[in-house]
Amino acid sequence: MTPLLPPPAPALPASIFLLGAGGLGCAAALALSGLPGIRLTIADPDRIAISNLHRQILYSSGDIDACKVEKAANRLKTLSSPLEITPLVARLDTPEAIAGAARGHGALLDATDNFPTRFAANDAAIRLGIPLVHGAATALAGQLLTILPGRSACLRCLFGGPPPLEGPTCVNAGVLGPLVGEVGWLMAMETVKLHTGTGQLLINRLLTIHALTGRRRAVPLRPNPRCPCHHQPGPATP
Ligand SMILES: [Zn+2]
Repeated sequence: MTPLLPPPAPALPASIFLLGAGGLGCAAALALSGLPGIRLTIADPDRIAISNLHRQILYSSGDIDACKVEKAANRLKTLSSPLEITPLVARLDTPEAIAGAARGHGALLDATDNFPTRFAANDAAIRLGIPLVHGAATALAGQLLTILPGRSACLRCLFGGPPPLEGPTCVNAGVLGPLVGEVGWLMAMETVKLHTGTGQLLINRLLTIHALTGRRRAVPLRPNPRCPCHHQPGPATP
């Protein structure tokens, strides 16, 4: 593959912070689990529910009510994953909390399930100056975007901020397990590209996926020069 971008030069490029151990997080972690040389921190406060099992592929019916991140870490270790995995039981839903926990990592993967936390993850990555891989899946639609702070469009460049109403979520609208898996694996692929500095990152292109039609679109985006992401002081020192 031809390098099309210089590596984003994170402080610790082999250290990944995965925010969310739900369907997206399970798929992304599993896809990353065969890669040597990566340290992975998985953060999530929740416990495993039976209604989640169809899409949260690291868990089984015997895990109900167990802590997600601890089960995820144990499951990956039983697969002889070369990953060094740190589970973090914490509800991180503000830029300050996410930035505090993710500081020192080379990239942030947003595998959360609601708009306010997605924008908090966006702001945390901007604050830390580390790449963000954003993935989302609800009902029949998924999307993916990689953000290089100060160098490519962020979620606020695109949307400004969270919508006033939450809108459809996996809780009230459901989501197809295969769609979640696809988006999660693509998040891992973006991470591999970040890690190796090869390929074409999904920057300034929002990939949208429709589960039933199979249609994919890469919607072109432009950074908004008035967005706060262009006025940050730069990467923080870990
Ligand atoms: Zn922006």
